[in-house]
Amino acid sequence: MASNVTFIGAGNMASAIFGGMIESGYPREAITATSPDDAMLAPLRERYGIHTETDNNAGVANADVVVLAVKPQIMHDVCAAMRDATQDRKPLIVSVAAGLTAETLERWLGGDLPVIRCMPNTPSLVGSGASGLYANRLVDDSQKSIATTLMESVGIVEWVDEEVLLEAVTAVAGSAPAYFYLVFEALEEAGVKLGLPAESARRLAVQTGLGAARMVQQGDADPAQLRRNVMSPNGTTERAVTHLEEAGLRQIFLEAAEVCAARAREMG
Ligand code: NAD
Repeated sequence: MASNVTFIGAGNMASAIFGGMIESGYPREAITATSPDDAMLAPLRERYGIHTETDNNAGVANADVVVLAVKPQIMHDVCAAMRDATQDRKPLIVSVAAGLTAETLERWLGGDLPVIRCMPNTPSLVGSGASGLYANRLVDDSQKSIATTLMESVGIVEWVDEEVLLEAVTAVAGSAPAYFYLVFEALEEAGVKLGLPAESARRLAVQTGLGAARMVQQGDADPAQLRRNVMSPNGTTERAVTHLEEAGLRQIFLEAAEVCAARAREMG
């Protein structure tokens, strides 16, 4: 039988995950979402056919898995108010909240709980996310596999140590959608300068980014090999790529990832 999964908070991230789970065949009867605002829950009941609760403790009462999906600023108060219910039940805790360690969440919930911390990125909201996951000492293999199922319903999953989750995963996935948006902006501006209408330049650049990513993913190919395949000697692509290399693009990405990781460390 499927594990009962309760989402504490029913906003963008929670609905992306349970929407993805249902689409992948997870039984909707096993899913509950909570929010203090029933007006927000009503359309979710209608659209997804899940259970909803306005009281978090009622949501936790039958849960095997509790997904913490409220904003980090209110997480302490939300956890403190659920402490007794979670200590009674000892469910698996899965947090998608930015900036809160597994240890902090476990402490706020009274200790001695299996906790998985996820670092999803915003493309999860369209089912194309990339999440890093870290499990504390009390999580067993079957619980890891449940968390994999949850997060794979909105993208791909990598299990890592918490320090790596915080720093490297933030640098190459959590913050990285913005790097690609910047590349799209720059290509659009370049296209316009060279005579394309802005709309066409954007469509061409974005589709090219998507297509390039698909070629890497589908063929499981090495990006360096795919790049070489497009670069015929003395051709247009070779000229452009050589310019990017000589201008230090790799070094710039390395430095950006390093300052990103350092900032993540500062913020905890
Ligand atoms: P959101 O504002 O869309 O959703 C928050 C939900 O919490 C709302 O449904 C709200 O009604 C509910 N809520 C408020 N108070 C509550 C309470 N006391 N008890 C239960 N529910 C309550 O936020 P979001 O974007 O879905 O973010 C949720 C979490 O996901 C955050 O911790 C954020 O750090 C993390 N996250 C989000 C993204 C993203 O792309 N949106 C990416 C990475 C991580």
